[in-house]
Amino acid sequence: MRRYHPWIFSGAIGHTTGSPAEGDVVEVNASDGTYLATGHWSPGSIAVRIFSFIKCDADREFFLGKIKAAYNYRLIAGIAERDDTDTWRLIHGEGDGLPGLIVDIYGSVAVLQAHSAGFWHIRQMIAELVTEVLEGRITSVYDKSEGTLPFMAHLGALNGNLAGEDPGSSAVVTENGFKFRVDWKTGQKTGFFIDQRDNRELLSKYSKGRNVLNMFGYTGGFSVYAMKNAALVHTVDSSAGAMSLADENVKMNFGDDPRHKAVTADAFSYLAEMKKDYDLIVLDPPAFAKHQNVLTKALQGYRRLNAIAMERIRPGGMLFTFSCSQVVSRDDFRRSLFVAAANTGRTVRIVDQMGQPADHPVNIYHPESEYLKGFILHVE
Ligand code: SAH
Repeated sequence: MRRYHPWIFSGAIGHTTGSPAEGDVVEVNASDGTYLATGHWSPGSIAVRIFSFIKCDADREFFLGKIKAAYNYRLIAGIAERDDTDTWRLIHGEGDGLPGLIVDIYGSVAVLQAHSAGFWHIRQMIAELVTEVLEGRITSVYDKSEGTLPFMAHLGALNGNLAGEDPGSSAVVTENGFKFRVDWKTGQKTGFFIDQRDNRELLSKYSKGRNVLNMFGYTGGFSVYAMKNAALVHTVDSSAGAMSLADENVKMNFGDDPRHKAVTADAFSYLAEMKKDYDLIVLDPPAFAKHQNVLTKALQGYRRLNAIAMERIRPGGMLFTFSCSQVVSRDDFRRSLFVAAANTGRTVRIVDQMGQPADHPVNIYHPESEYLKGFILHVE
């Protein structure tokens, strides 16, 4: 606590006064009674998620200040007011001192995702504050918390519009000048992997003239950037819905271009059958480890996946490889890449390292905030 980590685990609590319900605002005191922090209560293993280390009322004014600060930071970081990008994250949980709350902006629609009962209870107020802070830039706030709230809380949450006009289910947004259809109703997360924006841009630096495989391609984020200059781009994902959106997204930017093909397939079967067809491979799998207890298995998964890609990539090929598992550290991930490389015996060099963009800031007191790790590897 005194080092500002925003989580208190249940085992660290000496005693509880009163009987807080899930989502209640609670104060945390040291054993000598001095005030430490204020946060949301939860009966799970993370018992309190801290949003203030200074005594506060946790009222409308308090959260208005937090949301204003999050917005100002994104203005300073050059993200919230760009002509070529209207897709960005306004609130990134712990990274913005609001553990349990995500708000993403898709053009004129904000999508809110509560990961804790505390923020779900005050979602209406948060929606109003977001609308106020963005001063007319957004016309709707959609709540997509149904799948992210703690299951045991039995909150009966239903996704739906919280403020403003009905936003429908999708919109065409702009990222670095490229167009994407984002479907917040049926898509993953809040609809789009905004966190890969800078890494996608980096990809187009390396994709010129190359045969690109975008594995775990989802709606074709990396594929659209590669289409700028690649010889061919194959997008692969196990979700047929994602593949049809990937096709639509490529078409929206490049028309009916024969260089692109979307394939619905399982990654491991596709890679097992693949010949040395590609000289740029993107591997952006879903989180292999959601909990610490499956870390070893997850690391094996990363090693296996990367080993096949390193084995099959053409000489001189580039690998863009990611892990978005919060419990896998950058060192852990790098070690599994090292073992994968050693097993193939090929000469592998680290060209660059990738992370999260500035609108997904890492709270220095909460190392777990650094969930997205990526390496660009050159394979001889
Ligand atoms: N790179 C994407 C995000 C990838 S998210 C972007 O920038 O938008 C991970 C994707 O992996 C999801 O779309 C999911 O459908 C897909 N996936 C999960 N398991 C898979 C498997 N076994 N084979 C292929 N795709 C899989």
